Amino acid sequence: MIPIDSLKIKIHFSLSQALIQLDKTGRGILLLVNDEQQLIRTITDGDIRRLLISGASLQDQLTLLPYIKPTIVINGTSSTEAYRLMQKYSLNYIPVLDECERPIDLFSIHDFQIHLSEPHLGDFELNYVSEAFSTNWIAPLGPNVDAFENSIAEYVGVKYAAALSSGTAAIHLALRILGVTYGDIVFCSTFTFIASANPILYQGATPVFIDSEPFTWNMSPAALKRAFKDSIAQGRLPKAVIVVSLYGQSADMDPLIEICQSYGIPIIEDAAESLGSTYKGRFSGSLGDIGIYSFNGNKIITTSGGGMLVSNNKSWIDTARFLSTQARDSAPYYEHTQIGYNYRMSNVLAGIGRGQLQALEERVASRRLIFWRYQTAFANTDFIKWMPDSGFGRSTRWLTTCTLDLKIISPAQIIETLAKKNIEARHVWKPMHQQPLFQGCAYYPHDPEMSVSDHLFKTGLCLPSSSNLIESQQQRVIDVIRSFG
Ligand SMILES: *Cc1c(COP(=O)(O)O)cnc(C)c1O
Repeated sequence: MIPIDSLKIKIHFSLSQALIQLDKTGRGILLLVNDEQQLIRTITDGDIRRLLISGASLQDQLTLLPYIKPTIVINGTSSTEAYRLMQKYSLNYIPVLDECERPIDLFSIHDFQIHLSEPHLGDFELNYVSEAFSTNWIAPLGPNVDAFENSIAEYVGVKYAAALSSGTAAIHLALRILGVTYGDIVFCSTFTFIASANPILYQGATPVFIDSEPFTWNMSPAALKRAFKDSIAQGRLPKAVIVVSLYGQSADMDPLIEICQSYGIPIIEDAAESLGSTYKGRFSGSLGDIGIYSFNGNKIITTSGGGMLVSNNKSWIDTARFLSTQARDSAPYYEHTQIGYNYRMSNVLAGIGRGQLQALEERVASRRLIFWRYQTAFANTDFIKWMPDSGFGRSTRWLTTCTLDLKIISPAQIIETLAKKNIEARHVWKPMHQQPLFQGCAYYPHDPEMSVSDHLFKTGLCLPSSSNLIESQQQRVIDVIRSFG
């Protein structure tokens, strides 16, 4: 709680008195009030500086300040609502007023934790959700689901899409559609989140993990080639290859597609982290035989939880819809021949998705701006190297990720120091071939002498990258990391 009375100042005070009070209270803000103690406006260092630059003198009164209607909240407003407003309007503070418009408290953005990647609601979600409520479409299927599927398909440039309960469910169904079953082999990127690989185990199949290359941090064509050579020699080709595109950047798809096609093996493109990014003019997730997206809360757009399967193959998407709704045969009673799942997205959540998708391009721009600010702030810092931009297309920079010079600083040291300041940073994904769950699984490094993903895991760091992170919050992150320089 900020002692609110010490921040109050009256209109007949001089600029120099305001500066002294700003200095003494150290919050970077004063509250200009009238004789009834009602709030007129807020005053920052910048407001005084602008007056001085435009020719005012230190002895002039605060009456020179133009009237700007302050953004306020009324007593009883939740801190989450105040935080949302501060992010929306890029404010460091919001005064809390009582019923007579007198300030009684102040929210400061710096009292809130900075998360790695937060949900960021736009202006339209509630409309679609309300529509679902008012038309009683609370059932799993409904018009929002159809519209969300159509707009995703149109946006990424594929013919068909099926909205599901999660990205993991989408990968699982992709494996089912491609006929992956007990005893089969599936190649999968090693440098990824566990959700890429778990569905292989759901099907009783065996994963073989493929390393990254250093230019995109995604699947290495060289390692994939060696894995295929060995599998031909052993007479056991994989049933599918799961290619993951991490942190908002597409894998180098052309060579990977060429290798897979030469063996006639389909690609599942795990674009959970790369919705909105492009590769040679096409959208990530639309280049493989089947693509999957995730709308989990930390992704670039979210439905709180959800996923999407996309493909140009109509019968595959029909199968996905069938399997995701308990695989009910077309009989007049409940009859089932195959194992099905309850994997469909609900019509309410699809409403959130429709609104989120309308803001996707803005979210991409915000995430790229955040990356640009980090890059600019550390331009002369040689212990940080950014995830390279492959140059194959647009990276969304879903998360700003970097590698560190371990002689100067380790990811763990930065994560710990930021945590003490209420800021969340994370290690990059721990490779699957290093996971106890996958002990004993085959692994193909980029180069027999050089495992890229192992190096990335040792040195890699993800920085706070929420699209609603405001500049003053990002500056807090930057200042902490600077202190190591
Ligand atoms: C988030 C994520 C998934 C899974 O998505 P959910 O919707 O959380 O099930 C799959 N793969 C990668 C690479 C992810 O980051």
